[in-house]
Amino acid sequence: MSHPVSHAPILLTPGPLTTRLETRQAMMQDWGSWDQPFNAMTAQVCSALLSIVHGEQSHVCIPLQGSGTFAVEAALGTLIAKSGKVLVPVQGAYCERIVKILTILGKAVVRYDLQEDQPVNPEQIASMLRADQALTHVALVHCETTTGLLNPLEPIAAVVERYGRQLIVDAMSTFGALPIDLRQIRAAAVISASGKCLEGVPGMGFVIADLQVLQGSAANSHSLALDLHDQWQYMQATKQWRYTPPTHVVAALQTALELHSQEGGVAARAVRYQDNCSTLIEGMRQMGFVPYLRDADQAPIITTFHAPQHPAYDFPSFYQLMREKGFVLYPGKLTRAATFRIGCIGAISRQDITRMLHAVRQTMQEMGMD
Ligand SMILES: *Cc1c(COP(=O)(O)O)cnc(C)c1O
Repeated sequence: MSHPVSHAPILLTPGPLTTRLETRQAMMQDWGSWDQPFNAMTAQVCSALLSIVHGEQSHVCIPLQGSGTFAVEAALGTLIAKSGKVLVPVQGAYCERIVKILTILGKAVVRYDLQEDQPVNPEQIASMLRADQALTHVALVHCETTTGLLNPLEPIAAVVERYGRQLIVDAMSTFGALPIDLRQIRAAAVISASGKCLEGVPGMGFVIADLQVLQGSAANSHSLALDLHDQWQYMQATKQWRYTPPTHVVAALQTALELHSQEGGVAARAVRYQDNCSTLIEGMRQMGFVPYLRDADQAPIITTFHAPQHPAYDFPSFYQLMREKGFVLYPGKLTRAATFRIGCIGAISRQDITRMLHAVRQTMQEMGMD
């Protein structure tokens, strides 16, 4: 991968991520929001996003200013009626965030609490949907980025469809890197953002929404700025964004999407991230680090490691010494276990991971942990 500014650190985090030079260079121009070329760019970006999940026949793409959470809140607020009741599997911080959003919106929530290392069980979803006829939706986080845990999307979607409810998927940290096929699964919405596995810069979320569901959601939103239906209608009518668009972010995303396609789309990105992740886990294991998740549940997105037991270890020093060597790691976010996280996503390859592993070994020596 091209890392143009050699002093710039490599971000091994869940976002913002390391991006390609071409992607950042796409931002070297100003665009007017009324300008036809910019509006064509938005349309092109939306159509590329839609095709990544094969939603052309059934869904539309609605972009939204802001970080990923803005798009999640917009989707939950717009696509779920005020009388809706939502089943939320909870196994980490992003699931908790969905619960919090729904609570603030005044929508009924039923929690399905899991251990942080436990994937969602589709059978459990089935029995909860059977037990409560008032449940209208299931809100699922595809990869819980808190740990890197991957949930089995297809069987869960099949259960939700079988029981006639609607599925909303927070695919923030998987979109573009793990396959999601809307011809195969039924989902009211799939949500993601510019700055994760698509390797754009942060600043724009988007919702791939089922057209019929969206058409029926005109009166739902609690919010003006986060009203997806209104955003979509305005865009349909004018080809423009409602309110100031994140022009540079859109331009960068257009280039990032071209690079995604040139790389070989979702399949190729999955292979590269899996290679990063396997290299990472194997190298860390050799140095005595223990991954938090079972291999079978690990998404090739971010890996959580138990903090070393060694008395000389502390995360702030570890972080700082790694940062000085050009690698930005991420603290753990678990409620129980002491952990830290290393991301596998972004414009990075096995060589970067290998260099990072050398830096870990050196850091351990510096800290007196070897
Ligand atoms: C990154 C992420 C989000 C959104 O976080 P923002 O900080 O608002 O961009 C939501 N869900 C998951 C699973 C994520 O990984």
